[in-house]
Amino acid sequence: MALHSNFRAKPGCSLDASGRGVGAGLIFLRQEDEMSESLMVSYEVEGVVAVITVNNPPVNALTPEMRGSIIDAVAHANADPAVAAIVLIGGGQNFIAGADIRRFGKARTITTRMSAAALDASAKPTVAAIHGYALGGGLEHALACHYRIALPTAKLGLPEVALGLIPGGGGTQRLPRLVGAAVATDLLVSSRHVHAAEALKIGLISQIVPGTQSQELRDAAVSYAKAVAHAQPQRVRDLVLEPMDATTMDVLQAARREAAKKSPHNKAPQYAIDCIEAAFSLPFDEALEVESRLFSELEGSDVAKALRYAFFAEREAAKVPDAPPGFKPVEVRSAAVIGAGTMGAGIAICFADAGIVVKLLEASAEALDRGLQRIRDIYAVKVKRGRMTVEEMDACLQFVQPVSHYEEIGDCDVVVEAVFERIDLKKDVFTKLDAVMKPGALLLTNSSAIDINVMANMTSRPQYVAGAHFFAPANAMKLCEIVKGDQTSIETVVRAMKMGRDLKKVCAVSGTCDGFAANRSRAPLVTEMMLLLEEGARPEQIDRVMVEFGYPMGPFAVSDLSGLDVSYDTRKRRAAADPQYRKLHVPDRMVELGRKGQKNGAGWYRYEEGGRTPRHDEEVMRIIATVAHELGTPQRTFTDSEILKRLLFASINEACKILDEGKAYRASDIDVMWLYGFGFPRHRGGLLYWADTIGAKEIHLQVQQWHEQYGRRWTPSPLLSKAANEGLSLRELKSVI
Ligand code: NAD
Repeated sequence: MALHSNFRAKPGCSLDASGRGVGAGLIFLRQEDEMSESLMVSYEVEGVVAVITVNNPPVNALTPEMRGSIIDAVAHANADPAVAAIVLIGGGQNFIAGADIRRFGKARTITTRMSAAALDASAKPTVAAIHGYALGGGLEHALACHYRIALPTAKLGLPEVALGLIPGGGGTQRLPRLVGAAVATDLLVSSRHVHAAEALKIGLISQIVPGTQSQELRDAAVSYAKAVAHAQPQRVRDLVLEPMDATTMDVLQAARREAAKKSPHNKAPQYAIDCIEAAFSLPFDEALEVESRLFSELEGSDVAKALRYAFFAEREAAKVPDAPPGFKPVEVRSAAVIGAGTMGAGIAICFADAGIVVKLLEASAEALDRGLQRIRDIYAVKVKRGRMTVEEMDACLQFVQPVSHYEEIGDCDVVVEAVFERIDLKKDVFTKLDAVMKPGALLLTNSSAIDINVMANMTSRPQYVAGAHFFAPANAMKLCEIVKGDQTSIETVVRAMKMGRDLKKVCAVSGTCDGFAANRSRAPLVTEMMLLLEEGARPEQIDRVMVEFGYPMGPFAVSDLSGLDVSYDTRKRRAAADPQYRKLHVPDRMVELGRKGQKNGAGWYRYEEGGRTPRHDEEVMRIIATVAHELGTPQRTFTDSEILKRLLFASINEACKILDEGKAYRASDIDVMWLYGFGFPRHRGGLLYWADTIGAKEIHLQVQQWHEQYGRRWTPSPLLSKAANEGLSLRELKSVI
């Protein structure tokens, strides 16, 4: 048999007379892919079974060339009379973790739908052998095979919706045929993946192969393929769907409502449900056309582009550019937290949830008791809401160990300080930590603004001191900003990042400065929203503008939630340090009049006893009017567009200053901080991604105008000026910390 023209033997391998590979096997390369040795599909024959292995380290991300090679390999196997069945398996640690996301939105010659169709149509049975991840296009290939078996550690899912897409390779049609409409809706809309045990239970796979190694899986798959070699292929597309009953229809409607509430700007969940409905109402091929049409519509959408950007920004933020090559941080196995207040309690929970013993040290026995109760209360709410069982709560609480003396924490791998935000206290704590902590321990502070160098200079080991800035509530908020002081070693940064990831946080690095990168970049937004009040805008309008932009809550409603008093002391400190500091008279007056927010029912809004619904309060209007009158500030009205620009342009300008001063590695890291620290709408990508949709030039022009009008606080960042003059993309700006 002649070898298919698109195939060639891997250098060093030879072909036997039938065109079958001997030695290591054949490497299937599409002509257009000859330059790239990493994009490979290999083909070997074991007895009567052809084994097609995809190899694109590290996760076998699919490319058009690989899909083409799979099509060719399936055709080759079907044409070979000596082959009776086919196994599709991934090289390395994974099956196929999905399509190469960088290729979305670009012309694709060979789609997953095409290679899945080839596997599906194969006259000889095809078996997907799954280990590691089978996600997105990867799972779609497995669904198109006639049988699916997996190692116990395999993880399977269709996470496209999280990227503003739906599966486009038949996944929306094959999945409901295997697992039913309700489960398919859950998997598609939630984007979650399932482990092998659940996959078996719901019917996604037909067998779990005991073992841990890919070779064990491969051997089992070859045996399985031999056993089914002469059976009629069991095509998922041929499974008959019973008409949807009323209960299932209700499940789908409920999923639609939930998705509309949770992510109103992302059409993908609705389209995924449309496809599932099409699976029940249309023949397979017609329903595939619906999937294809909806996929194409979503793929080029602004929302999908922004979500893809956010996905990559998060992955990029995890990388420390100047990390020593090959440096592998050891994992934290024991921790201590100093101060069990709002933040300390939440941080302790993060450790306990990760199964890390955490010792808790407080200023007094009473404060320690309060801290422990705070932790118990937080867990109790989780149990009440059905997020964990009582047994799981008790198991977590076992990891929290109250202690009374510094000597008792000396052997911990890491200590996180979370005492009051007072420089004298922080200095005292770090002096004590230096005296007791074992060599090499990480000394971290959760300070929200104090220069890391202040704490580091109290120790004999400043290279081990860094910030681990959790956001409130620490056990729920995903962001952990790792702050590098002037003397913090890069190894300490890498270790702190690893610790954050182990606590299931999204980490990004900041340089030390007042407020660090996250809060510092948001501070101008807060300043402008307060000054807009002085000039005549109302909290309700500003909140509405930001909610319409996509925030889950307006900034004044958020301020009521976290408490108006939280930033009062910081403002006083800044005013004392800087004679030119622009005081924020309205929020200061609110605090001085006892308006603390939800906690006492009176903030920017009024709250009923125990209620959380913000209600308009004329008293707030009177306070604002009084302050404006005292200052002699002329009053006027604002358009929604002006409000949005005043708030976000101020922060964009500051973000550019942060990059200019080397206080962040990348603009996209600041975007990650906004997404995970401040609830910035993900469908807008991030602050600087959004800025690029306006353009540096237009933003710069406006910043210049407001600089002339309002003075110093609007001084344009030199980097913003440069970006405007040279037409640079703001989101791609990079720096060195
Ligand atoms: P908090 O007032 O709720 O708790 C502080 C705790 O520290 C108290 O329980 C107090 O008893 C304890 N403490 C004080 N002195 C101590 C000492 N010498 N030794 C041991 N314990 C001591 O404060 P918080 O809101 O949890 O803030 C703690 C730190 O986290 C601050 O640096 C703050 O800036 C930072 N932070 C706060 C937030 C927030 O929103 N609350 C967010 C991020 C970071």
